[in-house]
Amino acid sequence: MEAMFRPIIPRLRSPRLSQAARLRLKRQQQPQRPRNYASSSGPTFDWEDPLVSKSLLTEEELAISETAERYCQERLLPRVLQAYRDENYDRAILSEMGELGLLGANLEGYGCAGASTVAAGLITRAVERVDSGYRSGMSVQSSLVMGGIHQFGTTEQKEKFLEPMARGQLLGAFGLTEPNHGSDPGSMETTARPHPTKSGYYLLSGAKTWITNSPIADVLMVWAKLAETGKIRGFLVERSACPPGTLETPAIKNKSALRASITGMIQLDDCPVPAANMFPDVEGLRGPFSCLNSARYGIALGVMGALEDSIARARTYALERRQFKNNPLAKYQLVQKKLADAATDAAYGTLAAIQVGRLKDEGKATPEMISMIKRQNCDRALHNTRVLQEIFGGNAASDEYHIGRHVANLFVTQTYEGQSDIHSLILGRAITGVQAFA
Ligand SMILES: Cc1cc2nc3c(=O)[nH]c(=O)nc-3n(C[C@H](O)[C@H](O)[C@H](O)COP(=O)(O)OP(=O)(O)OC[C@H]3O[C@@H](n4cnc5c(N)ncnc54)[C@H](O)[C@@H]3O)c2cc1C
Repeated sequence: MEAMFRPIIPRLRSPRLSQAARLRLKRQQQPQRPRNYASSSGPTFDWEDPLVSKSLLTEEELAISETAERYCQERLLPRVLQAYRDENYDRAILSEMGELGLLGANLEGYGCAGASTVAAGLITRAVERVDSGYRSGMSVQSSLVMGGIHQFGTTEQKEKFLEPMARGQLLGAFGLTEPNHGSDPGSMETTARPHPTKSGYYLLSGAKTWITNSPIADVLMVWAKLAETGKIRGFLVERSACPPGTLETPAIKNKSALRASITGMIQLDDCPVPAANMFPDVEGLRGPFSCLNSARYGIALGVMGALEDSIARARTYALERRQFKNNPLAKYQLVQKKLADAATDAAYGTLAAIQVGRLKDEGKATPEMISMIKRQNCDRALHNTRVLQEIFGGNAASDEYHIGRHVANLFVTQTYEGQSDIHSLILGRAITGVQAFA
């Protein structure tokens, strides 16, 4: 594991590190310590990690987190504004992440790092500190597609796809949502029927929408109902093997959020897919929901990155901006409360995610725990960034202050992979034993 990251660190320490990235890293390494008002000696309060979540991390997790943070601050942050303005996702990002060992980092074998669930979450947090869209592209690759193949794939499927995906050479998409079925994927209309003339093949037909990475993906994990049984099965659709006219993946343009990621449809018209590309054993919603479980964990720690970045930016702005008698905004109680609320939610959300990550690696995490942290962390990140946005006054409307981009993005994180209200219903069912979905 260390070997995968060691060669990277010297490169990131090179003088090419931007001034902004250097400042940020310095601040991370030596957090500014405000005066301790409680006593003259003893521990001091670190506003960037108020409940000292770092003390719960292993050496390896700290090293992985630092590598990811360095890469994201040096290589992603300088690109994000233009990417967001142009609604342009740079495919090279996945290759760069692959070179660093950041893709599928918690998977074993096949060129993956074999790190802990928490380590993989720390990577999503580093990426989302820059942009939720960049994190979405990575999560789909790492958790939904690679994670799904790792869990449900045949040996041949794993050997064929996982290593090139870990390197970022093959790009994945995960097609579950349909135009008429989002929160209710069990009613999906996409079907797979045996090929009438070609033995060992299925024909897939149907449409998926709002699919991250689909316009540029090489491997599309498509969930479809088998015509023979009506049961949902997972298929790995390889773009290069699809005859012309059987697979289209048009982009959905002019999004109001997640503009630094690419989103599209998957349209299948009697698309022939070998039976060897179907997951052999998993049936029903267990397949897609297991993949989503992993990705939702990454979102829960990821959105804490967007929230922490918003806190840091709002704090800096509040200390520099002066109003009324030349006082910094930070002097005013209403402004301080906004920062206090946000820092508290970020600290609580991080601790909860670390705890669930540890339970997951011990085989003791339930899907409801993931629902709880995904829902809570996304809701609190969205709520707090909306409030912190107020500190910037009119400047919040300029994208150069970044806060508006986080707010817009966090709305989507609250919506995809189970909208927050749906996770409430999952928790409500677990608490009462009564199903409230339908
Ligand atoms: C940018 C972006 C990227 C995405 N990427 C992917 C991807 O890669 N792969 C993929 O498969 N999907 C993806 N999605 C789709 C996403 O997962 C869905 O949008 C989400 O599941 C919600 O489905 P829906 O949009 O159809 O909303 P609906 O299901 O129509 O829900 C609309 C509203 O009604 C509420 N609601 C629905 N049913 C109930 C109920 N029974 N009780 C109470 N309230 C209810 C919901 O909570 C929600 O607030 C993406 C979406 C976006 C915006």
